[in-house]
Amino acid sequence: MTSYLAVFGNPIEHSLSPVIHNYFAKICSIDLQYDKILVQKGGFDKAADDFLERGLGFNITQPFKLDALNYAKKRGVLSKAARAAGAVNTIAKLKDGRIFGDTTDGYGLVLDLKRLQMPTSGAKCLLIGAGGAARGIISSLFTEGGLLSMVICNRTHQKAVDVASFFANSGFKVTAAPEDRLEGHFDIIINASSSSLHKTLPNIKDEVYKGAAAAYDLMYTKEEKTIFTEHLKSLGVCSYDGLGMLVAQAAGSFEIWHGILPDISGTLSYLRAYLKNA
Ligand code: NDP
Repeated sequence: MTSYLAVFGNPIEHSLSPVIHNYFAKICSIDLQYDKILVQKGGFDKAADDFLERGLGFNITQPFKLDALNYAKKRGVLSKAARAAGAVNTIAKLKDGRIFGDTTDGYGLVLDLKRLQMPTSGAKCLLIGAGGAARGIISSLFTEGGLLSMVICNRTHQKAVDVASFFANSGFKVTAAPEDRLEGHFDIIINASSSSLHKTLPNIKDEVYKGAAAAYDLMYTKEEKTIFTEHLKSLGVCSYDGLGMLVAQAAGSFEIWHGILPDISGTLSYLRAYLKNA
């Protein structure tokens, strides 16, 4: 029997989710149809109800991750990760008809950091950015990645302070520091800001980056490099773009819907080749 799935967003044309899920389906021998759905502002709940009449579930990309959180709150249950992140990127219809809302961004990032053998356990982490992606990965980095501590820096410092305050009673050691006054050493550096999208670098001194074991930019490109990864490499820090996280968060959704975690490395190689030929 065919499973109907989709990704909701606006814009949506650029989404690689159908390519990834169709490849997962092929390697896991699962019969599915995965569509892209352009949702209009204010139209999320209706689009979701309509799709779930026959759909098994769907993914959510910008700008609807908060609408999806509210939808799952109203219609069913939210995972702990979704509550901590304040966002939902995966909706699944449960057997009893209720809706389950989860986020696999943090899970996906940690899976990818493990694939890359980035040393997260007991690590001091610098997190750059305080938007939706940054907030969505913090709790997984501690619970699944085993971080020791995290300092958040953001272009707008107050937002970093707000995110750190949100985690104040979580038991995680999260603090905020202004970018231009940041000092000290970090084991790993994660850029969860959109700086690379705008071809700019965060306003952080090179001394802070030097000596880190590795760095990761959530942004990805078909060339497998961003302005941030190239800058960090020039300072002697191993650096990776975020395409592996994109595949791994999709694998997390696939696991929720089908109960199987597909091969991430193989799919990533396929996707790199697909992008180079696109
Ligand atoms: P948001 O719009 O929620 O947040 C953007 C963040 O980037 C804010 O902290 C903002 O700072 C900062 N920022 C924006 N422009 C600049 C700039 N020119 N210089 C420095 N900082 C800047 O976006 P998201 O959090 O959803 O996404 C952030 C990035 O992560 C995007 O590039 C996105 O593509 C990527 N991403 C990748 C995923 C993957 O699977 N690989 C998954 C999710 C996201 P300020 O507060 O000052 O505005």
